[in-house]
Amino acid sequence: MSGPAIEEKLRAAQSAFHLWKSTPILVRSAALFATAAILETEKRKLGEILTLEMGKTIGSAVAEVEKCALGCRYYAEHGEEFLAPRPVATGASKSFVQYRPLGPILAVMPWNFPFWQVFRFAAPALMAGNTALLKHSSNVPQCALAIEDIFRRAGVPAGVFQTLLVEAGQVEGLLKDDRIVAATLTGSEAAGRSIAGIAGSQIKKTVLELGGSDPFIVMPSADLEQTAGLAVKARTINNGQSCIAAKRFIVAGGIYEEFERSFIQKMAALRVGDPMLESTDVGPLATEQILKDLQKQVDMAVADGAIVRTGGGKLPDPGNYYAPTVLTSVRVGSPVYYEEMFGPVAMLFRVADAAEAVRVANDSPFGLGSSVWTKDEEEQEYFVQNLEAGSVFVNAMVASDPRLPFGGVKQSGYGRELADVGMREFMNIQTVWVK
Ligand code: NAP
Repeated sequence: MSGPAIEEKLRAAQSAFHLWKSTPILVRSAALFATAAILETEKRKLGEILTLEMGKTIGSAVAEVEKCALGCRYYAEHGEEFLAPRPVATGASKSFVQYRPLGPILAVMPWNFPFWQVFRFAAPALMAGNTALLKHSSNVPQCALAIEDIFRRAGVPAGVFQTLLVEAGQVEGLLKDDRIVAATLTGSEAAGRSIAGIAGSQIKKTVLELGGSDPFIVMPSADLEQTAGLAVKARTINNGQSCIAAKRFIVAGGIYEEFERSFIQKMAALRVGDPMLESTDVGPLATEQILKDLQKQVDMAVADGAIVRTGGGKLPDPGNYYAPTVLTSVRVGSPVYYEEMFGPVAMLFRVADAAEAVRVANDSPFGLGSSVWTKDEEEQEYFVQNLEAGSVFVNAMVASDPRLPFGGVKQSGYGRELADVGMREFMNIQTVWVK
């Protein structure tokens, strides 16, 4: 997209903001209900675009579109409550906190959940009265354009949500434009550093949703067979390319062998293939580069002493199909131990007890999600109080939910999406004091 075309979009975003912020909340809410209805009616057709562009299985693509509808409906229903001024008793005759939109927000988004990542930002941002400019990943342009079209058909006025077909290198100019007031990024640490640096130099707020290497802790009281099945699902969700996929499996000594046997057997039994077939468990990786990067990490781990227990490489079929892989004996301190692996590769670790499980889980530059499997209530409390992560799920897989805040600590980023707090990230929380 050229300079004049970008200029036109920026101008439209700014002038639409002045209208949209004063549009009654009920009208904004109606537009989100209409968006949800389109997503639900067209979920199969839209799901096919996701699968074609980035290879996720068709069932998970349709489920992703359904989740976007849920997110739109959630903010359409709760927006008014979240935006209501909050009276505070002080010495003033009247004092309260009110929430004002900021203006055009730039959203830089990744390809792995090409609809959900966008809607979980856009639904609250638009409900709050902001306008949005989307720079989506370069490998999902059809998703980006489909989302813009859905908002248009739902009656969202021109300029309120726009897609910019621009390259990563053009983001700097956008961040430095006075009309962009803040930015959100879901993506890699490298992109996070760059965007936060540039936005910081302009004193513009950012929310960063970055990578993760989530621990999945299994303690002796867990139901082993069921937990091993869910562990496989947690690792291979979205063909292994999810920030909140479980990546490090930390298992207590007494049950380690049994868990390992069951986990490896289940990973090896996954059906890898055409993502358009309902019977497929794991589709291809999104690009050849992702496959090459993943292979490099597995090779590095092996060179450093790790053992491949199943998988370990690309499948012979044409396409970016990677065999579900389990690594054991990954050396503490080897580079891969601290990295995120974005594909169906799991690392298994044996620990003596809950204290060691927490030490291993927290020994990571990331802190996005974490899950722990134990029926022991004291242990549950211990993990909940000691895991360093944006979320702790007990006896459940980590997932995002419109009702709950989502985000990370450490190199996983900062700020929160979803729930009421997510909506307020891009608002002026304004104090009003009347004497
Ligand atoms: P990525 O390379 O950082 O790309 C994400 C977006 O940022 C794309 O739109 C990309 O544009 C853009 N971009 C990349 N480098 C940039 C730069 N220097 N300046 C401005 N924009 C830049 O990440 P990815 O490989 O697509 O996505 C995978 C990563 O996202 C993983 O680390 C994953 O864990 C993380 N993720 C995090 C969450 C979360 O909620 N925390 C959710 C999903 C994914 P181009 O496509 O044009 O390069």
